[in-house]
Amino acid sequence: MKSYNVLRAMTRDGSARITVINSKDIVNKAVEYHHPAPTSVAALGRVLTATSMMGLMLKEKDDTLTVRVLGDGPAGAIIAVSDYSGNVRGYMQNPTADLPLRSDGKLDVRGIVGHGEVSVSRTFDGGAPQSGTVGIVSGEIAEDICSYYAISEQIPTVCALGVLVDTDCTCRAAGGVMIQLLPFADEKTAEKIEENARRLSNISHLFDKGMTNEEILALAMQDIEYDEFDEIEAKYVCRCSREKFFGAISSFSDKEREELYDESGKIEAVCRFCDKKYLFTRADFKK
Ligand code: ZN
Repeated sequence: MKSYNVLRAMTRDGSARITVINSKDIVNKAVEYHHPAPTSVAALGRVLTATSMMGLMLKEKDDTLTVRVLGDGPAGAIIAVSDYSGNVRGYMQNPTADLPLRSDGKLDVRGIVGHGEVSVSRTFDGGAPQSGTVGIVSGEIAEDICSYYAISEQIPTVCALGVLVDTDCTCRAAGGVMIQLLPFADEKTAEKIEENARRLSNISHLFDKGMTNEEILALAMQDIEYDEFDEIEAKYVCRCSREKFFGAISSFSDKEREELYDESGKIEAVCRFCDKKYLFTRADFKK
């Protein structure tokens, strides 16, 4: 049975589209693969949550979207890739990055991300990839994603992201809301959306209290008429395969490849997204 964790809706006046995601299972899959420290769970979890929602806005089934948060903080690069159905995978350069809680008791995501750039690229089936890069404005991820859409795509966007990390370093609750204004959006609707956005500032706690996607959508759309239009199951999915790694290693020159063999004559390739290991021998490349 499918368990839908994404709800999409549209304001009745056609001013905005809304995506709500409960991403707890997605984040916990990342925790299982990467064993991140608490602040890193929050940082990677927020990037995964945002990237899934951004992927859900792709137009074609074979399109993919990659978000790269390239800050100079201890986290290093944080990368996530999503498809059209919101299925997402991701990793970070240094999942052990951690900092003491901030004075307000929150995890210091900004501190481990640091200053730098956010880049978003889309690949299209049969077309040249498109990408845009903006400077990191806060390092809290949600604001950085809004800034990307505003500067690079001129799309007014409201984004709320939250990851609550439990004492055992797993994700206790996580989710997000993304609202994008469509061209010719009604000004009053836009104002109400912005006003309501304040109610979403503590979104991980809303999910932790057991609120459903429908209830969170209603909160975001208070005093606005809207229609739910679909529900989707978005998961943490890695699409790596032996063939893909073989293809990549085959593209190296013989000399480059020779340097990759260990003492037992094997090349071990490890997928950064799901930790799966693939072993190759010299015989594999002789065919
Ligand atoms: Zn993989």
